[in-house]
Amino acid sequence: MSESTRAAAAAALDALIPRLRTVCGPDGVLTDTSRRRVYESDGLTYHRALPGVVVLPTTGGQVADVLRACSEHGVPFVPRGAGTGLSAGALPHTEGVLVVTSRMRRIIEIDLENECAVVEPGVANLDITRAAAPHGYYYAPDPSSQHVCSVGGNVAENSGGAHCLKYGFTVNHVRGLDVVTPAGDLVRLGGRSPNAHGYDLIGAFVGSEGTLGIATRITVGLTRSPQKTVTLLSAFHSMDAGGRAVSDIIAAGVLPSAVEMMDALAIEAAEEAVACDYPEGAAAVLIVELDGPAAEVDAQLAEVERLCHGAGSFETRTAVDDQERARIWKGRKSAFAAVGRISPAYIVQDGVVPRTALPDVLRAIAALSASSGISVANVFHAGDGNLHPLVLFDDKEPGAGARAEVVSGAILDLCIQHGGSITGEHGVGVDKVCTMPRMYGPDDLETFDLLRRAFDPAGIANPDKLLPTPRLCGEQSGVRKGAHPLVESGQAELF
Ligand SMILES: Cc1cc2nc3c(=O)[nH]c(=O)nc-3n(C[C@H](O)[C@H](O)[C@H](O)COP(=O)(O)OP(=O)(O)OC[C@H]3O[C@@H](n4cnc5c(N)ncnc54)[C@H](O)[C@@H]3O)c2cc1C
Repeated sequence: MSESTRAAAAAALDALIPRLRTVCGPDGVLTDTSRRRVYESDGLTYHRALPGVVVLPTTGGQVADVLRACSEHGVPFVPRGAGTGLSAGALPHTEGVLVVTSRMRRIIEIDLENECAVVEPGVANLDITRAAAPHGYYYAPDPSSQHVCSVGGNVAENSGGAHCLKYGFTVNHVRGLDVVTPAGDLVRLGGRSPNAHGYDLIGAFVGSEGTLGIATRITVGLTRSPQKTVTLLSAFHSMDAGGRAVSDIIAAGVLPSAVEMMDALAIEAAEEAVACDYPEGAAAVLIVELDGPAAEVDAQLAEVERLCHGAGSFETRTAVDDQERARIWKGRKSAFAAVGRISPAYIVQDGVVPRTALPDVLRAIAALSASSGISVANVFHAGDGNLHPLVLFDDKEPGAGARAEVVSGAILDLCIQHGGSITGEHGVGVDKVCTMPRMYGPDDLETFDLLRRAFDPAGIANPDKLLPTPRLCGEQSGVRKGAHPLVESGQAELF
């Protein structure tokens, strides 16, 4: 941006501030530097920018008035929920308005007859389950940040979690949305019933990363709590054998609620951090969770034990109580943070491959690691092929970060070559915006852009995110050093 353009943008923002104060009240508009600094990054702290101004609306009407004002003054805006995103999707615009939904936290209704909940966008994911649980229901999408991340952020990122293998991602649970468009118009998409006719604009909005407007009211389906849940841990002498067990389980028609896998390096880190007592000598462990009617779960458990054994498992344990179940999950849930114990810095990659390609891709990652001399720990949602390779390096060693970036990028290339995707659940944001052309051709990207411009012809909604422009290329992806602050404070688990 040239100096004169920057000055014009700053002047437009200054002119807007009095109107924002009228809309949100004096305490709903933050202009002083120290308070704005709180919002300068999301969970990917490598990217930082001081927001021009921060607003904290309390109603959908206020959001509409804010966006209308932005539109009239040509000022960009960035939506933000809890700021736990891992792709810098909520990175502020220095000459723009950051619209934070943290004061919109009402659960408007738990509608048991229609098995749905109506909530404001700032409600934390887990709070829906807390409200529904006494009635025998829960909200199925379970990102591991669910204690803190907002439902609005989940919608924008189409978030998933360990149990999305059986229950689907956010998009499978959103029934209705009130959306404020970038022009400030309030539109209602869908409703309380599961199926709406016409263009699937909910499908288009979910995963749009704040580029099509701001969701101000969200209706999600609720799921009945299962009668029985069992968790099983199975250990293998090779990743290939573990991968074979996953394929065999799915091929047998068993649909576990979660199938998670860790390799030897990830197991070593988890053991060191939380002494999870996984079987000694395991080159891979598989965690399989089954839920549903008790008789069905019992039958499936026997089948899964048989299939794991057939694939070469040398030890399989089934949790006998909640305590043991929690211990099995503890190793898996601690694995990301635990890697900080065996490496000073690491990059968390997020890519997807078709499940059938898992063995080939894991072998290729191992070869890449061997040829580059850079260690890669693998912890992932094996059931749906969502890899989270952790690329380890010492950030005190000159050039090590850049070499790790190359390996991390090469892993994404492997995902694309095998028919997968550059992100499973963390989104594109700023972090992967320049990776998009590796996966999509010019016509694909142009079609995305046409949709974006249909909602936002002026280009003011979360600019510079999701879709690449020549100016943006050359950005580096984020590097995590040590444990994430949310993980360290016990508010969230990264897994
Ligand atoms: C420790 C940790 C663990 C995690 N585990 C998982 C996981 O298991 N699965 C997973 O999928 N993700 C995970 N994440 C990533 C993150 O929590 C999710 O992407 C989450 O959905 C982001 O929600 P948020 O409220 O923090 O959104 P933010 O980070 O505030 O925003 C994310 C994006 O949503 C947009 N946005 C926010 N609110 C709205 C709205 N109301 N309308 C329109 N756009 C909006 C923003 O502009 C931005 O583009 C994890 C993150 C951390 C830090």
